[in-house]
Amino acid sequence: MSYTVAIVGRPNVGKSTLFNRFLEERKAIVDDISGVTRDRQYGITDWNGKSFNVIDTGGFVPDSKDMFETEIRKQVRIAIDEANAIIFMVDAAVGLTDLDSAMADMLRRSVKPVYVCVNKVDNSTRALEGTEFYGMGFEHNFFVSSISGSGTGDLLDAVTDGMKDEPVKVVSEDLPEGAEPEEALAIPKIAIMGQPNVGKSSLLNAMIGQDRTIVSDIAGTTRDTIHTHYNMFQKEFILIDTAGIRRKNKEKDDLEFYSIIRAIKAMDEADVCLLVIDAVKGITAQDLSIFGLAAKKGKGIVVLVNKWDLITKETNTARDYEKVLKDKLAPFTDVPVLFISALEKTRIFKAIELALDVYENKHRKIATSKLNDIMLKAISKYQAPVVRGHVIKIKFVSQLPTRVPSFAFFTNFPDDIKTPYRNYLENQVRANFNFTGVPVRIYFRKK
Ligand code: GDP
Ligand code: GDP
Repeated sequence: MSYTVAIVGRPNVGKSTLFNRFLEERKAIVDDISGVTRDRQYGITDWNGKSFNVIDTGGFVPDSKDMFETEIRKQVRIAIDEANAIIFMVDAAVGLTDLDSAMADMLRRSVKPVYVCVNKVDNSTRALEGTEFYGMGFEHNFFVSSISGSGTGDLLDAVTDGMKDEPVKVVSEDLPEGAEPEEALAIPKIAIMGQPNVGKSSLLNAMIGQDRTIVSDIAGTTRDTIHTHYNMFQKEFILIDTAGIRRKNKEKDDLEFYSIIRAIKAMDEADVCLLVIDAVKGITAQDLSIFGLAAKKGKGIVVLVNKWDLITKETNTARDYEKVLKDKLAPFTDVPVLFISALEKTRIFKAIELALDVYENKHRKIATSKLNDIMLKAISKYQAPVVRGHVIKIKFVSQLPTRVPSFAFFTNFPDDIKTPYRNYLENQVRANFNFTGVPVRIYFRKK
């Protein structure tokens, strides 16, 4: 299920701070200067056993006041169109501003749930001052301090309560927290992802042999991702693409925001993501965050290095390039990398084959007896280190019936097994069975 929550609000109200709290990461730049240009941030978070995408509409702030309002309006419009719910953040320390009111006017007309988040309520005086925001007339109001975290739990409770419950799935055994049950086999869904201009449309056209670039001439039009049913050379799959969507009004910032929201939606729908990067630019920070998100969501991944025709090649160029690239992908390096040219139609069919291989790997089931034969041998060759005097024994391994390949190792001290040994087990699983391109989950259970 795909559920996306957008955080909107004036610059400096604390959107980024709240975003970081949701993601429990501190990597974003939080800055006291209003008007700093900043990348939009996006990620996936869990609360009450439900996971959803969060997007901080962040960033771009032009100089003039008029431009500024126009820009904010655009962001709110996109959030209303594309997100499932909106967190509208205001600042209790500053109080209600004209811009807040203008945004409130737009948001009140939205049918999507709006959660007003009155931020910087660090003390009781602020709480009292914050009550003026009730005047905006929204049903859900929360008083929070993103810095200390107070009130953010109630906000998250409300947001997750607002998500429609997923249909109950029947599972044969209880799964570890966060593990999703497997789904019935269907036609593989493959998404083409990547930054603007890496060649996604060109690749799609090369794959399906026709020009599918769609230009929408209505400003602000939104379209869902395009699904193309592909059935060629006995291969059948669905291509999910966001690249074909083009707006005439190609404003850079719009495009970027759309491309992120769309990419996340396409990713949620897909079994396997083709991550297209530009050979000349190399893998960028944004590429790595798409890669990380796909891995976190348990998607199959193939990295396609496009525009390979532009690279001057010597004997080991591809090999060296792959090595540098994989160093950046670490620790998840068991991923196929293919050098292609959408322009010259080089290795396009191979890209499809790799995606279908990865799909197969993602659904691979290892017989319990074989799994135990091989893994228990690997475990006896290199035992888990003793922790606090506990001699760790792993007696049994089984693959769980989950959407993402998951293995449960039954042990006397599940909490005493540390990351390096966990990584050893994952590497052994990968060395003995083909899970290339697929994230693998390792769980320890008490036996
Ligand atoms: P954004 O522009 O809306 O993303 O805002 P930021 O997250 O960058 O925050 C702007 C400033 O407000 C930073 O200096 C934050 O430290 C500060 N800030 C954010 N949340 C709180 C809060 O709950 N209380 C206080 N006192 N300051 C906050
Ligand atoms: P998108 O924004 O990711 O959909 O990228 P496009 O498919 O629109 O391509 C962006 C630009 O890169 C266009 O000018 C393409 O002609 C060019 N391009 C795409 N693929 C290749 C390739 O394999 N080699 C070269 N040299 N140029 C390419």
